[in-house]
Amino acid sequence: MSMFKDIPVDVGVIYEGERIRRKDMYVELGGPDVKEKFELARVKKPEEIEDGRVTIIGPDIKDMEEGKTYPLGILIEVAGAKLEPELEGVIERRIHAYCNFIEGFMHLNQRYDIWLRLSKKSFEKGLNSFDFIGKVLHRLFKSELPIIEKMQVTFITDAEKVRGLYDEALQIYDARDARARGLKDEEVDKFYGCVLCQSFAPTHCCVITPQRYSNCGAISWFDGRAAASIDPKGPVFTIERGELLDPVKGEYSGVDEAVKKRTLGEITKVWLYTAFGYPHTSCGCFEGVAFYIPEVDGFGIVHRGYKDVTVNGLPFSTLADSTAGGRQVDGFHGISIEYMRSQKFLQADGGWKRVVWMPKEVKERVKDFIPAELADKIATEEQAKTIDELKTFLKERNHPVVESWKEEAVAVEEAAPAEAKEEAPMIPVATAATLPITAGGFKIILKDAKIYAKKVIIRSMKSEKSEKR
Ligand code: SF4
Repeated sequence: MSMFKDIPVDVGVIYEGERIRRKDMYVELGGPDVKEKFELARVKKPEEIEDGRVTIIGPDIKDMEEGKTYPLGILIEVAGAKLEPELEGVIERRIHAYCNFIEGFMHLNQRYDIWLRLSKKSFEKGLNSFDFIGKVLHRLFKSELPIIEKMQVTFITDAEKVRGLYDEALQIYDARDARARGLKDEEVDKFYGCVLCQSFAPTHCCVITPQRYSNCGAISWFDGRAAASIDPKGPVFTIERGELLDPVKGEYSGVDEAVKKRTLGEITKVWLYTAFGYPHTSCGCFEGVAFYIPEVDGFGIVHRGYKDVTVNGLPFSTLADSTAGGRQVDGFHGISIEYMRSQKFLQADGGWKRVVWMPKEVKERVKDFIPAELADKIATEEQAKTIDELKTFLKERNHPVVESWKEEAVAVEEAAPAEAKEEAPMIPVATAATLPITAGGFKIILKDAKIYAKKVIIRSMKSEKSEKR
């Protein structure tokens, strides 16, 4: 039974976080197999909006073939006496939450990266038109954000039309991000927190500062301020930044306190500008991952849209799994593209001087923000496909990380007197904020665990099987 009588499925907070697997889906909209997709909110004049109107351009759900993937554009147009264009980003981010309130309807990511699935079960219950989804969005937006007086929703599934609007949407996102640049973290006394993604990652809390854009890349400090003022009880809230405890790592007393409270004590400390120690947690909506490559002592970066494997042989999805879940994982760091344009970007780890590899597409997007002397020292997939190729490239170009290889070699030699050489070095094999182990009917939870081993044996499952045979 639905909270809305004219909607064939239930709608409510309890459906947030619901995952729909491929085998259970009726159709998929957007996602990794579709290049062009987007969601966009625009503030318009009242006379331009027909309140409650839902428009569908292209095939509706009932015209779609079961099991297939379709492009999608979602356009939310709103009007209201107190609505400013500055609120567009905040309104747009709520599409994620409100779509997820719908039973059997999953929404992931944001902006140009959206990925939705409708379950077979909900389709069979009658959720066979965007008209229902538009109605739910209209009601939830208007009841949760009364500042919206009029709203119309357009769903675009016609591939040509989505393509046409996609470029326009990218320009709008870029302009929004540019507006938020320039302000420094030290110049404000308030940061903003967001817990919208706790439905997927219960211990995640984004800390949004002028120089550390949200992980999803959809909420700037200005958006945070606007969201907290129009909906103070909502998922975006004010953080009094407090005392600056560490200017390099980026630790603020107010941030530690707020995050501890919002994660129910799970995360007690956050260093905003590093991927080690107490890094900012990562939910799952991050636009990219910065991953540490121990072999070269540098960072690789990969964005969600990158289809190939990265330079360490792992694809985005595997790196994202190691990063996500609201944990603080050493060397696996969820980031937004906009954070890469910040002067505080991985500041404590060396910033751009520590970045060694990234896909050409991301490099192109942030090229104006990479220090000129480093631009041709950072490899893309065109220059390095393996760690060996990367090492050669970095050496040839004299990347700053190469210096640390020499220092390390000297340090190892100096620190290894003859008698100590008998002991094999301990190798870190796992680091986790929370590490559950199930054994003998008990569940043991290790907090802030670092596990070291004398020897790590990596054996392929195939060879194990053939050994057993
Ligand atoms: S990634 Fe962060 S800022 Fe973006 S919606 Fe999730 S919690 Fe909020």
